[in-house]
Amino acid sequence: MKTLDDLTRLLHHIDGRGYPAYKEIRGRWEYPDFHLGVDHVQGDPFAAPSRLRLILPPSTAGLEPWILERASRRVGAAAWIARRAAKDIRRLAPGRGSGKSGQLAVATPGQLVLPQTAVRISPSGEMEVRLTLGLPARGRRVMGREAARLFSEVLPGVVSDLLAPNAWSPGELRTAAAANEDAEALRDRLPDHGLVAFVADGAILPRRSGVDDRPLESGAVAFRSPEGLRVTLDTPNAGPVCGMGIPEGVTLIVGGGFHGKSTLLRALEAGVFNHRPGDGREQVVARRDAVKLRAEDGRSVRAVDISPFIGDLPGGQGTKRFSTGNASGSTSQAAGLVEALEVGARLLLMDEDTAATNFLIRDRRMQLLVPPEREPIVPLVDRIRDLYQALGVSAVLVLGGSGDYLDVADTVVGMVEFEPEELTERAREVAQERPTGRVPETGPPLAPPRPRRIRTGSFPEGRGGRGLRVRTLDAHRVRVGDRILDLSGVEQLLLPTQLRTVAAAFESLAREGRVGDEPLGALVEHLEAELTRDLDRVDPRGTGDLAWVRRFELAAALNRLRGLEVTE
Ligand code: ADP
Ligand code: MG
Repeated sequence: MKTLDDLTRLLHHIDGRGYPAYKEIRGRWEYPDFHLGVDHVQGDPFAAPSRLRLILPPSTAGLEPWILERASRRVGAAAWIARRAAKDIRRLAPGRGSGKSGQLAVATPGQLVLPQTAVRISPSGEMEVRLTLGLPARGRRVMGREAARLFSEVLPGVVSDLLAPNAWSPGELRTAAAANEDAEALRDRLPDHGLVAFVADGAILPRRSGVDDRPLESGAVAFRSPEGLRVTLDTPNAGPVCGMGIPEGVTLIVGGGFHGKSTLLRALEAGVFNHRPGDGREQVVARRDAVKLRAEDGRSVRAVDISPFIGDLPGGQGTKRFSTGNASGSTSQAAGLVEALEVGARLLLMDEDTAATNFLIRDRRMQLLVPPEREPIVPLVDRIRDLYQALGVSAVLVLGGSGDYLDVADTVVGMVEFEPEELTERAREVAQERPTGRVPETGPPLAPPRPRRIRTGSFPEGRGGRGLRVRTLDAHRVRVGDRILDLSGVEQLLLPTQLRTVAAAFESLAREGRVGDEPLGALVEHLEAELTRDLDRVDPRGTGDLAWVRRFELAAALNRLRGLEVTE
């Protein structure tokens, strides 16, 4: 293999030449204690930066055997290293020159701990780190000497200061590994205890802001479980952990405005993924198959059977195969619910702040004013028990405004100044003392949704013999061929790197032409399994900016893509 000396000589040699001369550095280079892979060289100084990978043998990575033993520990340690490297790498390489010259970057997993491609640790202790570098240019000429400095001084510095053992205070990586193993264990224990979610005592749920996912810095009230819902779950590293268990069935989170209801629900939504130590939610977990639903008027819906929730629409439009390019609040939420069930959701999370009111409730007076034959919607309050009893699907709902749900709740949690109390008994009393006078409404019996299949020809294709290109436009939108896909309503898609993974998955589906080979549920299940095995399976280029997503995020993305045709 060619060595660092060869690379340095080559870079000096191409100094001052046109930018494409950089293409010559593609390939593998041997450093004294690691290997460098130059996977992609950018076409010009302003293009997306070049992609590198550092491969550290076990002797350089120096990871202790305990961390390597289990996948959950390796994932925890790798995410910790990625987050730290992403934060500190800019300091090591302040860019010089035109465009993105000299800028080094690693994709961060933010507060999440999940398999990602920026840093990966193999069971044998090899560590692979993927980064991007703007190859330096003056105008459009190669800055060979500056590049040689970056490759011969800065990159070895990245390895020794950010990646190798002396970058870590003793025990830091072990803590990250242990915390992730514990989070997995907590989630695994939920079914044995009949729970759908768990929030540990001491957890810090509020975030710094709507755009900053780090814990609130000052004035955060730590979580304390109400006695009636307190459970203790065992973890391999932290031992017994005490907190609030949310049982299966229908749970309401009630309370006054600004008392912390939505914050608790958001922690549960994010609890399908693990969090880093110090996040505050590292011991907050929800079942992996929990899906957040909201109203998303304007979204596209393709042939979804929403008839259990919404009957025939004005003009006699049936709803057994409901399609629209412009859903309403209630139809979008009904479609989201059925789509979630179709791919295996067993816990639904909803917040009245973002739900369609008429999807949730219709009170006595409205029932009298608008007769049933003029109202297609069977409100969720009349279906939510069936969902649990017929389909085994639990729900957690945040409600501040409607007491009609007290009749159908198994568990009621009240939030008072950010502290939960159990109100189940009291809610029962109130329900008995004050009947709503509502007449329960009925719809067709609930059954698992009919499987749908995407027609392959309706999935976008590449142009001019090139594969389909899917580009992320911003934090919530991707361009799929010539269609814009808006995923801002998919609230459990938390990281830009997760959006990138969805984009890469779409590209791989187009490449393999297999969208129509199996029903949507099986398709996303298989995709999820591939991502779990190896994120690179959806991205042969081996980019460093992918992070794991569930089948639910993949299905949500497919379900929102305009122009798809589906069959049964
Ligand atoms: P609700 O949904 O009940 O109206 P939110 O969950 O939106 O209330 O919370 C209201 C505000 O209080 C938010 O700014 C949130 O960050 C903050 N907050 C929530 N939980 C806590 C807590 N445990 N400690 C301190 N502040 C909190
Ligand atoms: Mg709220």
